[in-house]
Amino acid sequence: MTDTETETGTEFESFQSLPEAVKRGVEDLGWKEPMPVQRRVIPMMLARRDLIVQAITGSGKTGAFGLPIVQNLNAERRETQALVLAPTRELAGQICKEITIMGLHAGVDTIAVYGGTAYGPQLDAFARGVHVVVGTPGRILDHLKSGKLVLDNVKVLIIDEADELLSLGFWPDMKEIGRFLPSDRQTGLFSATMPERVRSLARFFLRDPEFISLTEGGVRSPEEIEHYHYIVSAQEKESMLLRILQYEEPDSAIVFCNTRDDVRYLTRYLQRNELDADAIEGGMTQVAREKVMARIKAGELRFLVATDVAARGIDISDLSHVISYSSSDSPEVYLHRTGRTGRAGRTGTAISLISGLDIGNFRNMQNVNRMVIPERPIPSAPDVAGRVRQRVQVRLEHDLRELGERERELRQRRYLPLVEELAADAEGRLELAMVLGAYLASPRREAASPAAEPADAAPPARDHERKGGGRKRRPRRRGPRG
Ligand code: AMP
Repeated sequence: MTDTETETGTEFESFQSLPEAVKRGVEDLGWKEPMPVQRRVIPMMLARRDLIVQAITGSGKTGAFGLPIVQNLNAERRETQALVLAPTRELAGQICKEITIMGLHAGVDTIAVYGGTAYGPQLDAFARGVHVVVGTPGRILDHLKSGKLVLDNVKVLIIDEADELLSLGFWPDMKEIGRFLPSDRQTGLFSATMPERVRSLARFFLRDPEFISLTEGGVRSPEEIEHYHYIVSAQEKESMLLRILQYEEPDSAIVFCNTRDDVRYLTRYLQRNELDADAIEGGMTQVAREKVMARIKAGELRFLVATDVAARGIDISDLSHVISYSSSDSPEVYLHRTGRTGRAGRTGTAISLISGLDIGNFRNMQNVNRMVIPERPIPSAPDVAGRVRQRVQVRLEHDLRELGERERELRQRRYLPLVEELAADAEGRLELAMVLGAYLASPRREAASPAAEPADAAPPARDHERKGGGRKRRPRRRGPRG
């Protein structure tokens, strides 16, 4: 090996140290030198450590987990030895393509498994004992439940773009997949951001993980609050906030405004757009304020809009996001606002909306507090629409799966004629849109993200394992790790 010892540990310096067959795969990909994420991650993957990697798409992370998977795998054994979960079909397809090239000369058989594609080739691959399965959680769960895909011999689980997986609503499916996985596996979690819900996911799937960060600014503690801002026009501020909330779908948030009028206006605006929002401001009676407080503390209210004065002294440390809708002229206020998230070892996200009216205060605040808060581009309307569509699909597929085959068929047969009739004209399509909206607004039967569940919500590992007697294809009830 040409690895060298550095202050950050052993690094993977060159592809020369790879087995001959894998090296040829890397040559086919045209890669000459390992990228930073590969240098840091490959040695730990090869040492079969559990790890959390903060890295963005484009950093070379597929190689970072793909090469060790291919190297560690026993191609002679026709069984599934690695599972990669990815949020979208496109990403699953891309990862599959890359691992296929890496593993071609080593005899590694890889398949992508996602919705919207024929079952036939996937079933054939499982029957011949495909080595690496890359897919979206929904379709993988379909195959697990039908007993066609067996994960008993999986040595490596990769959760790629964990923040995206959770944002799209895949948590219930992922939790179920966890029950089919052996507990003596290695798990690698990759995510561009590390909000609390990703950390909860890590607690569920990983055991004593290493943490590697490759985002700007070098190594960061996962406990830190993530700060960023969006530049918006003053006229469009409320609609941009709505868009950001729809895109990010925070578990919960407090939105700070400078004035009571802003609080009232913004709360009504969010409510009109069907967000679960309520206000606390100085003009309300104490009783009314306490009612709202009780709801946000109990997790029954998702968005609290407040002035700094009205929210003073309130301990709501469980909120995932703090949003500065308008910037205060006092730099200290920003610290008070954002101090409400990321408490007690949790991570939080602090977002500022900056219009021309805020820019002076925002700059001054960063100078005084010695902070550099990066900008993010506002998601476009098609970005938001695409994301909402994906979430609808994930939820529908999950709920259909829960119904069971007989009930699903009955229900589909019962309602299909009505759907066809409604979809045939414009008015009917609007009615269908209403039904879909109501469906999405209704609470999920299961928590939408791991952070929304108590840490002990799932049974501990092994307690629920079936002991002996069970047929081979029966799902193994294995709980979380660590
Ligand atoms: P990823 O972050 O895995 O999506 O990778 C981003 C792009 O970088 C992909 O097109 C990879 O094929 C490419 N890539 C990954 N590793 C290397 C490397 N060591 N040298 C050159 N290109 C690479």
